[in-house]
Amino acid sequence: MSGSPPAHQEPAVRILIVDDDASLRATFTQVLAKPGRNFDACGTVADGIESLSSRAYDLILLDNRLPDGTGLAVLDWLVEHSREEVVIIISGENDVDSVIGALRRGADDYVRKPYHIAQLQRAVESALHKAALEKVNRAMEQRLKASERLHRYLVESSPDLIFTLDAEGRFSYINPRVKQLLGFERGTLIRRPFTTLVMPEDVDRICSLLSLPSTMPGESFNVELRLRRNRGELAPVEPDSLTVSLTGIPMLSQQGERRVVGLYGVARDISERKRAEEIISFQAYHDQLTHLPNRVLFKDRLELAITQAQRRTGALAVMFVDVDRFKLVNDTYGHAEGDLLLRAIASRLSSTLRRGDTLARLGGDEFTVLLPDINQPEDAETIARKIVTTLSEPIKLSQGDFRATVSIGIALFPRDGSTAEDLTRHADIAMYQVKRSGKNAFRFFDPKLNTHHRERIALENDLHQALERNELELFYQPQISLSQGKVIGMEALLRWNHPQLGQVPPATFIPVAEEVGLIGQISRWVLDTSCAQLARWRQAGHRDVRLSINLSPHDFGHRDIVSSIVTCLTQHDVPASQIELEITESMMMNDSAGVAIKVRQLREAGIGVAIDDFGTGYSALAYLQKFPVSTLKIDRSFVRELDVTMTNPIISAITGIARGFNLQIIAEGVERPEQADALKALGCDVMQGYLFARPASAGEAEAWLRQAPAPSMHTYPVQPRSAQTHLH
Ligand code: C2E
Ligand code: CA
Ligand code: CA
Repeated sequence: MSGSPPAHQEPAVRILIVDDDASLRATFTQVLAKPGRNFDACGTVADGIESLSSRAYDLILLDNRLPDGTGLAVLDWLVEHSREEVVIIISGENDVDSVIGALRRGADDYVRKPYHIAQLQRAVESALHKAALEKVNRAMEQRLKASERLHRYLVESSPDLIFTLDAEGRFSYINPRVKQLLGFERGTLIRRPFTTLVMPEDVDRICSLLSLPSTMPGESFNVELRLRRNRGELAPVEPDSLTVSLTGIPMLSQQGERRVVGLYGVARDISERKRAEEIISFQAYHDQLTHLPNRVLFKDRLELAITQAQRRTGALAVMFVDVDRFKLVNDTYGHAEGDLLLRAIASRLSSTLRRGDTLARLGGDEFTVLLPDINQPEDAETIARKIVTTLSEPIKLSQGDFRATVSIGIALFPRDGSTAEDLTRHADIAMYQVKRSGKNAFRFFDPKLNTHHRERIALENDLHQALERNELELFYQPQISLSQGKVIGMEALLRWNHPQLGQVPPATFIPVAEEVGLIGQISRWVLDTSCAQLARWRQAGHRDVRLSINLSPHDFGHRDIVSSIVTCLTQHDVPASQIELEITESMMMNDSAGVAIKVRQLREAGIGVAIDDFGTGYSALAYLQKFPVSTLKIDRSFVRELDVTMTNPIISAITGIARGFNLQIIAEGVERPEQADALKALGCDVMQGYLFARPASAGEAEAWLRQAPAPSMHTYPVQPRSAQTHLH
């Protein structure tokens, strides 16, 4: 059918006339004509069906007798094709039977021949009226069906659980989503109480909200609750319950006192959101790298533990754990390795703790431990020892094994403080003390430490200005060849002339400079100053003297360390062969890759490299193969042992190694003639120590260079008197 016409017009009406009497066809059209009415006319069953096949009509005036059949054939065709045209049969005078037949087959009315025009018109009007009504009905029905389909679709395919409860709180409808979300067949839930779906811990809460049955006009509500899931129907990984946000709207009776007759509910799955919220709050209280509690959560737990300890007059301990030399790993291996190391340390640390203890990462390489319940200080000591032991096993990093050590400071409640801040700060101070006295140990807070700590902070501040104020100075200590009987080299040793504290030894301030990141600047100053000094000595005629310069492991973290050293030598016009850089064993241990390459580059540039304090660390022959150094410096501690035995297996091993690798040896810390004799016997020729000279200023050192070769080491060189005032 054509689309609906504009509202102000009568809808167009189409009438088909099927009659073999051509004059009748003409009269029909005439007497029934009205605005908006259109007529088609034909004279046979076949033509009638043809017209009907090509379009729809509102009304058919159908002659019962036609040349090629009866009107019944047309009626049958209409039924067969589920057509909705209204049909008026035009019948002959004696045709009663066929009229009845036609009515039975779906004709709507009849007009008998001969007829009055008015009679025909009335029949047509009422048939058209009927047709119009039916049309409206059908449209309405269709719209209803469509809207019902739509609503059903909306409800049934909703991602939310939609249901209605009766006045007793039992399901009267529930959409199929329940199967997917909770694993229940919806049929099995109808007439069952809503509470069958609620997790036991939430039942009371929801019952008070629903308060069904109720005569009160209830109010809409929204709650978060957990719905039970059908275990049997779900994958094993799925949780037992589903967290939903439930909106309930009471259904009121339409008439009378507006009773609550049920509830309309929509439950939305918010488990994803819940999870996201949990993750966010986890992130707020945990460290991303190690997943340990962070500073905020630690403080929280510490405060709680303090309150509890106060209540039961118990004790607790706070530990501050700082990874030794972590910055070195980070600088030389890169952050990825640093992260790996931190994670490994975190897991080692937590393996030493008991349930109820808290391990937190404050950031960087700092961890804290809360032992909320200890009986005596020894309990904390036990844990600290465990931590030190558990770290003694090397940690596997992708670039090799790493032996991590930590410095641990411990503060006790109530002895060392009664607030979270005080306890943490005091544990931190105790930790610093461990760092200063050689790391890899633990220590309890001592109120005296507090002043040390303040001193240290002051030292840090002063160190920043030391360079600008020109407070640094280099002392030199001669290296003597016994066989040649003369000074062949000088080691540059750093001094800080502090305006208030006097001369500060390098062992005190170099670790501070390393920690606060000033070491790079200081090393550059040392290089520059000592090379300038060497140039001056060379100009004064001491052409062959060698210069030994100490470098910090941190210096090797810089990519351009080699080129900046080479540049410095060029600037001062000193030959590379007269420079020896002293590095420590731990550097070879900690960073094979980076340092080995730099050592090789230095050696290729003709610069000497010595391993300082050789024999004290983890030196192994393997390292010497990787690091093409030129000199080993035998540590003072081995020399000291010579007092007892006159010989020392380690020294003879070192001299053997040196010979095997074609390295030079220097013995350090030679204080007594007997030591020198023993060293000589062991095949060590070059020595350095108080026996010959204490480190002294450049001016004093030059006096040693001027001395003529002496026939005996016991008379050579003469210790300048003024240098002895710099004892430490
Ligand atoms: P080191 O390189 O092992 O230097 C030798 C230390 O032993 C020096 O202490 C020296 O004064 C001392 N010494 C020399 N002969 C004897 C002796 O016969 N007996 C005893 N008991 N000690 C002796 P100093 O000057 O206090 O330096 C300590 C450490 O500070 C050095 O150890 C070195 O590691 C570091 N250091 C010194 N100057 C620098 C520097 O310019 N840069 C860097 N990065 N570190 C430096
Ligand atoms: Ca040295
Ligand atoms: Ca040394």
